[in-house]
Amino acid sequence: MTENAPPNALSDPPGRPLRIAVVGAGPAGLFIVDTLTDTADFPVSVELIDRIPTPFGLLRYGVAPDHPAIRSIRNRFTTLLHRDDVAFLGGVEIGRDLTVDDLREHLDAIVYSYGSASDRHLDIPGEDLLGSLSATEFVAWYCGHPDADRAVVEDALAAGGSGEGVQSVVVVGAGNVALDVARVLARTPDELAGTDMPDHVLAALATTTPQEVHLLARRGPADVAFSTSELRELGQLGDADVVLADPAVDLSDPPELSRTAGRNLAVLRQWEQAEPPAPGRRRVVLHFWSRPVRLVGAGPAGHERVQAVSVEPTELDDDNRLVAAGPAYDIRADLVLRAVGYRGVRLPGVPFDDVGAVIPNEAGRVLGIKADGAPAAMGEYVTGWAKRGPQGVIGTNKPDARETARAVLADAPELLRRPDPGGLAAWLSACGTPAVDIAGWDRIDAAELALGQTEGRERTTLADRAAMLAAADHDPDDDPGPDR
Ligand code: NAP
Repeated sequence: MTENAPPNALSDPPGRPLRIAVVGAGPAGLFIVDTLTDTADFPVSVELIDRIPTPFGLLRYGVAPDHPAIRSIRNRFTTLLHRDDVAFLGGVEIGRDLTVDDLREHLDAIVYSYGSASDRHLDIPGEDLLGSLSATEFVAWYCGHPDADRAVVEDALAAGGSGEGVQSVVVVGAGNVALDVARVLARTPDELAGTDMPDHVLAALATTTPQEVHLLARRGPADVAFSTSELRELGQLGDADVVLADPAVDLSDPPELSRTAGRNLAVLRQWEQAEPPAPGRRRVVLHFWSRPVRLVGAGPAGHERVQAVSVEPTELDDDNRLVAAGPAYDIRADLVLRAVGYRGVRLPGVPFDDVGAVIPNEAGRVLGIKADGAPAAMGEYVTGWAKRGPQGVIGTNKPDARETARAVLADAPELLRRPDPGGLAAWLSACGTPAVDIAGWDRIDAAELALGQTEGRERTTLADRAAMLAAADHDPDDDPGPDR
């Protein structure tokens, strides 16, 4: 490298590309593929693996379908996915189809970008009652994720066939996921009709019309994790009004507050001063300083279904700890959704910090493969939620990807010294492991657009793995699904 050369400049052009596997085709993976292919001044060959047959991760299976503008960010990646130096390998799962050691053998570098696939728990009695779900299960279902458990979610929405259906929902948490699920449940069928939700989702939500959706924030109005635009949107629903459970809650600006908190408080003050909701309209009820302490159930042993959430008022003590501020009371709940954050999961064979639930790293370089905790054997990197934890919006992944890409490119001269490891696609195919390539995804995409058009909307998401694979022109017998 010459003195003034950028960190990725090589003194001699390599005779082969730097072969990189990116594990996870969601926003974090897409941003790093974009950065690597854009900034490397030598050839790269990227193989973008995802365990499901489609690219886009949370852009497809996390961003709410009634937010088409944010979902459409994925269109920006279409050209990227069709580049000659990028290969999409969908439906390929580490731990099922191959191991991390296989990746190490066939690639120069691996970038883990597989996000945070699990969710945090409340750890309170009754959390596992029927009708108590994680928001991530509910989100996966309404976005049409092929691994979503339709039976569990649809049973919960039918309130166990009680006849009356879900009348009162309690959503626990004060982040954007809590807002998403509360909003989707409070929308009318007409408001959802133009989205790309699968047909069975629209049908189930059309018969789920809770009169009240309660949102529990364990701390105060200045402490919530809502984005202001998302909070404001809650006040713009066709048939639901936002009300504050405690009209006397303090909505004044505390001495120190972030810009977002200040804006959120301004929105809340507008709602506080608004006319009372017209009778007959549905209500989204915001409870601040309120934490769940128990889910109350009823029904035959082993089949108890949630009926109420026991909620304790809270306050901060002199040491800023959250403590009880009064006796608990019950809120009726035919459905409970916990939206208290995602949690990262361990990938077999990859270092993992159990406390932070992230891959330990230094500016994107994976740490800890060697026993002394020194940087891993060169060639392993991480980006996105797997690197920094489940925080931030889609765009947060961009600077994060740039940092990780800088580490990959700085290490490239060293990585390229070894013999060409050959890449993954050819090896997978020689092993008989089928992958959905970009042409397969294009066919799924076309099938979804065509189905949507027959229904008078832009797109209908295919939620069924076999239907996706059939659309991809991929033999479904080659892919027995997640339980193989
Ligand atoms: P989050 O932003 O971390 O919010 C989690 C919420 O759960 C916090 O209010 C937290 O309160 C609360 N909580 C945690 N443990 C709790 C407990 N045991 N009992 C009661 N409440 C508890 O998580 P998220 O909503 O899952 O969102 C994850 C990330 O995705 C965020 O960065 C979010 O902005 C992003 N996202 C963005 C959008 C969008 O931009 N449209 C949509 C969805 C998600 P404390 O603060 O008191 O801990």
